[in-house]
Amino acid sequence: MSADSISDRARQIHFSNIVIDAHADTPQRFLFDQFDMGGRDAEGCVDIPRLREGGISAIFFALWVPVDITGVAATTRAFDLLNAVEEQLRRHPGDLLLARSPQEIRAAREQNKIAVLLGVEGGHAINNDLGILRQFAARGVRYMTLTHNATTDWADSSNDAPKHSGLTEFGREVVREMNTLGMLVDVSHVSDQTFRDVIETSRAPIIASHSCCRAICNAPRNLSDELTVALAACGGVFHITFHNAFLSQEYADASKVMTSESAAREKSANQKFGPNEAQRLIAGQRMSDELIRAGKLPPVCWEKIIEHIDHAVRLVGADHVGLGSDFDGAFMPEGMEDASQFPKITEGLLGLGYHEADIAKILGGNTLRVLAESDSAAGEPREAKI
Ligand SMILES: [Zn+2]
Repeated sequence: MSADSISDRARQIHFSNIVIDAHADTPQRFLFDQFDMGGRDAEGCVDIPRLREGGISAIFFALWVPVDITGVAATTRAFDLLNAVEEQLRRHPGDLLLARSPQEIRAAREQNKIAVLLGVEGGHAINNDLGILRQFAARGVRYMTLTHNATTDWADSSNDAPKHSGLTEFGREVVREMNTLGMLVDVSHVSDQTFRDVIETSRAPIIASHSCCRAICNAPRNLSDELTVALAACGGVFHITFHNAFLSQEYADASKVMTSESAAREKSANQKFGPNEAQRLIAGQRMSDELIRAGKLPPVCWEKIIEHIDHAVRLVGADHVGLGSDFDGAFMPEGMEDASQFPKITEGLLGLGYHEADIAKILGGNTLRVLAESDSAAGEPREAKI
């Protein structure tokens, strides 16, 4: 299916609703490649023309800090990325608007602008300091992914050895402070036990900003059915991500078989790109595409995204599912190469017989709700949860 073959009904539904992408890594491109969102780019997934073509009303830009950057340098990296996003906002005032709330997302839409929201990815960015967490909140950051792929001083990651059996007491303190600040707690990347501890601690609904269903693709980064149900029970939203290795078991298995080859490639990428995460990612996507063409990795079709959405909806209903692409931060499936392809999601859900009201929730309504609920829980005294 090409973007042109979107039906009139899908197009009408898609473009008349607020569509939110809860996770994209484009800030790396601003920072490392001086990439400007204004023109349509031949590389990467996100720029203003493609966001408009894809009918994306609001996008969360992740301020991602690689796990090998720690201490003060981790905080600096997150702020460097934030500054780079702000520079884009300054350069494109007619197209982009920083949004911190559902009201501001709606206001951006009324002005025909794309709302830009901020999320910090990797709790090590706060360098064990709640003061830094507060600074992020003051600059407009609306969520924080508690870990990336390594266990931090206070939270276990899904892709690393556990050290704390979940959250430490300070980790719980971070969650409570995020509640007070109205910052959503993001459980993508955390271990199952950290997830359970977050559910137990948080008094506001939580999100997974970019994960898939473990029942379909058994990656530790994906959400088990048990945790999906727990997240929904507290009012949370599970944003389905588009990364090949989380969407497809076959792709994930084949990638594992290629471990030694991948390690060699990673080493040469490290030498070639140094700290330039943007170029490393673009080279990774190119490599993934080449390996698929060479038959070493199986192709993954964009419709796999619909399969994950549908699994989650069957499990917990349409009120708890959203979208978090991981554009510019992961390897995209065929047919969902960039932001312009987003209307296919609406077409795919219509194809499964979804009603417009449910599609609207998945496209953005649920994310708006969870933002509003986190706002109304903010500022309440911690003792309020009895
Ligand atoms: Zn991530």
